[in-house]
Amino acid sequence: MSSIATSVQTAGRAVGSKTTPGPILLMGPPGAGKGTQAKELIKLWGVPQISTGDLLRANVAQGTPLGRIAKEIIGRGELVPDTLVNDMVAVRLLKPDTINGYILDGFPRTIGQADWLDDRLAAQPEALPVVAVSIKVNYNQLLRRITGRRNCPVCHTIYNVYVNPPKVEGFCDIEGAALIQRDDDTEVVFKERMRAYEALTAPVMEHYRALGRFAEVDGDRPIDKIAAEIVVAVERLRR
Ligand code: ADP
Repeated sequence: MSSIATSVQTAGRAVGSKTTPGPILLMGPPGAGKGTQAKELIKLWGVPQISTGDLLRANVAQGTPLGRIAKEIIGRGELVPDTLVNDMVAVRLLKPDTINGYILDGFPRTIGQADWLDDRLAAQPEALPVVAVSIKVNYNQLLRRITGRRNCPVCHTIYNVYVNPPKVEGFCDIEGAALIQRDDDTEVVFKERMRAYEALTAPVMEHYRALGRFAEVDGDRPIDKIAAEIVVAVERLRR
């Protein structure tokens, strides 16, 4: 095991020995690596990742009433209305796998969503409050990550044409399937997503910072180093 993996595990035990991780909120602009980090942390803590982006895209793919509304909004880089997203999250949180905690990826994204979540948790005497960790990455780096991102439709492996290309251009190394680009991963839609992030989601960070439940990590580093730093931050915030 590498020394970084060991440090992640050591920090994870420290969290695990004291308490369950509870609800963890991963924040950061589009392309910051929230999904990638969530996948690292679920391995460590054994709690589920709840990505509102993934849940909404699943609704779009299935053509549900919610998906039909969300499709256009996502395509424009805007945010889906709070009540629709909150209801979707409420249903997901009823699943028993959330009992020891969960990693929220992309939610809450507005003050309205944060207030809804905080009220919901406050009404459950056994629930821990949310702790939020934001992943910071500079604008040009985000733009490269988003516009270069390609996904395998079969195994969902994520590539980047600039920094992590597949062996054969345009095809998944594992499945051989033709890679696809998300409709909202273009430069024009990225700019709109950044605008929504700055106007509506940045205040959510300030909300949790004011409550003393917020930390920030540098996201322009190797994946395992960032994961280790998030674990340490969560441990500190849960103390
Ligand atoms: P990213 O964080 O990289 O922008 P996501 O996959 O999390 O990408 O979200 C994609 C899109 O789904 C968003 O641009 C937005 O339209 C919609 N969405 C996801 N989560 C929320 C949310 N909590 N509230 C409103 N809209 C959301």
